[in-house]
Amino acid sequence: AIRIHGVSKSFGLLKVLDNVRLDIKAGSVTAILGPSGSGKSTLLRTINHLERVDDGFITVDDELVGYRKSGRTLYELKEKEILKRRADIGMVFQSFNLFPHLTVLENIIEAPVSLNRLSRPEAMNLARELLVRVGLSDKINAYPRQLSGGQQQRVAIARALALRPKVLLFDEPTSALDPELVGEVLDVIKELALSGTTLVIVTHEIGFAREVADTVIFMDAGKIVESGAPDQVLNRPANPRTAEFLAKVL
Ligand code: ATP
Ligand code: MG
Repeated sequence: AIRIHGVSKSFGLLKVLDNVRLDIKAGSVTAILGPSGSGKSTLLRTINHLERVDDGFITVDDELVGYRKSGRTLYELKEKEILKRRADIGMVFQSFNLFPHLTVLENIIEAPVSLNRLSRPEAMNLARELLVRVGLSDKINAYPRQLSGGQQQRVAIARALALRPKVLLFDEPTSALDPELVGEVLDVIKELALSGTTLVIVTHEIGFAREVADTVIFMDAGKIVESGAPDQVLNRPANPRTAEFLAKVL
């Protein structure tokens, strides 16, 4: 479960997250929608401490993200500890971010082996399983540049799963893809949703959100202005900003 307790974050004078509160149940799928600049990516990045919060705090499975508590004070963790904890919170980016000089297999086993989570043979076995899951067994020795965007993104998902994360965060995972490649990536994410992985997905794919999400959240100007079941938020939005946004994208 993810708990976001009154999180605020500014860049200079710009308040990008304004007292955000959110509870995400283990095993649920949450889709985050909202206009450009509303703070969606920043919110996602605070969940694995790629962004430091200015106020409030976040827990994942009751463990503080990026901090430890002593008395009433929160102390930021050391970089090494942050990296270790971040491994439990997988993230998949719009731009895939695979290591270009490593093969598919090496991309997947790199983190679990270097973080001493798995031995090399264990990691290789897991990588083979994950590649079956994302439908890319035949690409195990390929380099990222030899793959389509959709294939690269599926490798990126397998790589994130190789750390057996407690939650998986997706930041517009299909936005950089040609339209005909979007479906194959959404299908893999759908399969993860069915398998009970906790997913948080920033997406503009409204149809996908409607079909797969348990909760749809609409953000505007750093605030969650609406949150609820897909049918409620997408078909009967209570907030005029949500309605206006949906009218534009649908
Ligand atoms: P998009 O749909 O375009 O991806 P978003 O909702 O993900 O938008 P964020 O990337 O979270 O929006 O950005 C929110 C605001 O914070 C924007 O105005 C952005 O310019 C600003 N911002 C984000 N990161 C930084 C940074 N590192 N330094 C300064 N400003 C930033
Ligand atoms: Mg963004």
